[in-house]
Amino acid sequence: MVSNCANPKCGKPLHYLRDGRIFVFDVPDKVQANGKRLRRVEHFWLCGACSQTMAMTQSTEGVELTLRPRMRAAMSMTGTAIAS
Ligand SMILES: [Zn+2]
Repeated sequence: MVSNCANPKCGKPLHYLRDGRIFVFDVPDKVQANGKRLRRVEHFWLCGACSQTMAMTQSTEGVELTLRPRMRAAMSMTGTAIAS
């Protein structure tokens, strides 16, 4: 489980889950000897301050810390559906 803020520049210890945001990703693990690729669930936590401006996103490169675009944050607050 996570114990610190996922922002390496912050690293605030996790005391209260209600502060900040938890991100859960299903990430591919190492390929096993039998050729099967296992998946595992990884948890990341951003503290209250960091989750205001940042988010964790998953790409083909892995999980990374990204700046939250202001537009998207505003849209999610009003519940607007975004066609993708
Ligand atoms: Zn933080």
